Amino acid sequence: MSKTKYIFVTGGVTSSLGKGIIAASLAKLLQERGYTVSIQKLDPYINIDPGTLNPYEHGECFVTDDGAETDLDLGHYERFLNTPTSQANNVTTGRIYQAVINKERKGEFLGKTVQVIPHITDEIKNRIQILGNTGKYDIVITEIGGTVGDIESLPYIEAVRQLKWELGNHNALVIHLTLIPYLAAAGELKTKPTQHSVKMLMQSGVAPDILVCRTEHHLSNNIKRKLALFCNVQEKSIIESIDAETIYDVPNLMLKEKLDIVVLEKLKLSIDNKPALLKWNDFLKKHKNPKHIIEIGLIGKYVELHDAYKSITEAFIHAGAVNEVKVKVRWIHSESLTEANVPKKLQGLHGILVAPGFGGRGIEGKIDAVRFARENNIPFLGICLGMQMAVIEFARNVLNLKDANSTEMNENTPHPVIDLMEEQKEITSKGGTMRLGAWDCSLKKDSKTAAIYQKELISERHRHRYEYNNDYLEQLTNAGMIATGINPKTGLVEVIELKNHPWFIGVQYHPEYKSTVLNPHPLFLDFVKACLQKSLIKR
Ligand code: GLN
Repeated sequence: MSKTKYIFVTGGVTSSLGKGIIAASLAKLLQERGYTVSIQKLDPYINIDPGTLNPYEHGECFVTDDGAETDLDLGHYERFLNTPTSQANNVTTGRIYQAVINKERKGEFLGKTVQVIPHITDEIKNRIQILGNTGKYDIVITEIGGTVGDIESLPYIEAVRQLKWELGNHNALVIHLTLIPYLAAAGELKTKPTQHSVKMLMQSGVAPDILVCRTEHHLSNNIKRKLALFCNVQEKSIIESIDAETIYDVPNLMLKEKLDIVVLEKLKLSIDNKPALLKWNDFLKKHKNPKHIIEIGLIGKYVELHDAYKSITEAFIHAGAVNEVKVKVRWIHSESLTEANVPKKLQGLHGILVAPGFGGRGIEGKIDAVRFARENNIPFLGICLGMQMAVIEFARNVLNLKDANSTEMNENTPHPVIDLMEEQKEITSKGGTMRLGAWDCSLKKDSKTAAIYQKELISERHRHRYEYNNDYLEQLTNAGMIATGINPKTGLVEVIELKNHPWFIGVQYHPEYKSTVLNPHPLFLDFVKACLQKSLIKR
């Protein structure tokens, strides 16, 4: 048996309690104590991955270096731990069933009836242990998506039951995250939903070792005693998780509640090296005490759901702290923008970010926003579709190529300045077929981007089918839009800059995926810095 220890995080009472943040915070504390930790998310839905989901359904789709399209919680794991995740860190029911069915077709279960137990549960257990079996991690934390009691979570809970027993005492434990609601009329915190949720878990044969209780008010010792008594959990293993001002406070809150100590005791691991969280707290201090406020417009078409742009807003927080500014985001729906109302709607912004996206809805508004940023010297960052819109805007309004477009929006455009990548032309199926994951990009010496990165060869993560059309390279360059980042193998343009503009950069890749608390992304750092400068000039 591998020596990796396993921690399972389940959720009860309601969804959206922040299992991902609790898992990431605990992992952070264990990491600070010197353990190597990875976090994995098991998602009970049937999609193979969230890549085909509308962001309104599930928020942002996070992309890893190895090109996995994953749940946005993986973004939190990376931002907290400052270590990359991979395909192995996110598993869905669809992927589990697909693997089992493929094996069945190959004849691997010849003669046997293929069943949820043991075949599906075996596959789940294999996936849970993939990270541990690499030998790289002392501890693997596995977050089970959904809420205990959901029909689709059942095989996962069963797999946890089996694995916990197989791994034996002190090698695995279960943390159950629940809600302790406050009834204002009664002036009381209520434990009953948690009792029921634990009962439900126990009906599946899983007894939680630790309860983490989300609450708006502090838990009294009485409440803790009651929970311990009814839920079969030691009193010191009842951990309060009070609402926090920012998710980045949670590691400190968990440290105060001794969650890491309780975990290490139960896993019989040594409890040396108290987490100092020095750099983390330095970040928090700056984040909470900004010297300036700037306002950046985020132009997108999923702005009603802020989670659709999670990594971007978190990257602003990281970059804001370093620059000691608070980045206020003005959420602007691209469909609401017209050439006529842009000056009003974008008035007073210190920077404009045009967001990634797919399809034609709202793109004319994005193009209008780019034009406003270009003509008014407002710092501009275009990400993926945002970069493509910058190219289209420049082609239309500077090169005078009327109706220039991306073939994604208009297949018959006379000027396809953005076109489907060659290798995409034969592809018909939608799942996992984009240009995904980390690709190299060489930056032009003396470009603004190379100065920002302070190097000439970078690697960034991608998720797109369409691309800058090199047939227009000469024309665009001669008019002042320079291609400053190129994939060294394929010649694909990855970065564009404007010559005569204080800060105008478009990137085909997604820098936001690589920004972490301890390693804020250089492009975001410099963009925020440029926006700050803009705000100071205006005063
Ligand atoms: N829809 C564009 C493409 O596929 C941009 C994708 C994105 O913004 N992630 O190329």
